[in-house]
Amino acid sequence: EVVILRLGHRPGRDERMTTHVGLTARALGADRVCLPDNAGQSKATVADITDRFGGPFDVELTDSPQAMVRNWDGKVVHLTMYGERVQDVEGEIRDAHRDAGEPLLVVVGAEKVPFDVYEEADWNVGVTNQPHSEVAGLAVFLDRLFEGRELEREWDDADRQVIPMETGKRVESVGEE
Ligand code: SAM
Repeated sequence: EVVILRLGHRPGRDERMTTHVGLTARALGADRVCLPDNAGQSKATVADITDRFGGPFDVELTDSPQAMVRNWDGKVVHLTMYGERVQDVEGEIRDAHRDAGEPLLVVVGAEKVPFDVYEEADWNVGVTNQPHSEVAGLAVFLDRLFEGRELEREWDDADRQVIPMETGKRVESVGEE
């Protein structure tokens, strides 16, 4: 199991970023995203996309993201520009997850992340050591974790499906008519 935890959410200002953390987690192979409990609007958007474009994927709210980090029964990866280089640690993380079957909690921040999280994480991981975005960091990390296999994923219970094309846009209804 791979679960993404969004730590921190400033209503209004972070609405799109938090939503995009959820959508990116879903699209790139995570099983679930947990958002802070003031991010109900983002939760609704991610749930709506899952209803339409398929799953399985869960989105939930938590009133204590930090407790979730503390109590996680598995390994914790914290994405941060200050961390170890993803290319140096991705192998150990994959081994823990894939071979040892450890559930993985992947934490991304919004504003300043409390230092406790750095201490509690099994790995603090930088996707480059340059400042950028939680959405970009998450996307690259998941692609490295799954070694590209997430791109082949099939979706269950979708109402609609995009038909890839060279030019133009085609979306088809799927399932029961
Ligand atoms: N300045 C804040 C701090 O020092 O904790 C972080 C702000 S940053 C816009 C928001 C989040 O993006 C971070 O918490 C981290 O999860 C993610 N992020 C930004 N740059 C990253 C990088 N190079 N590698 C991995 N994650 C990154």
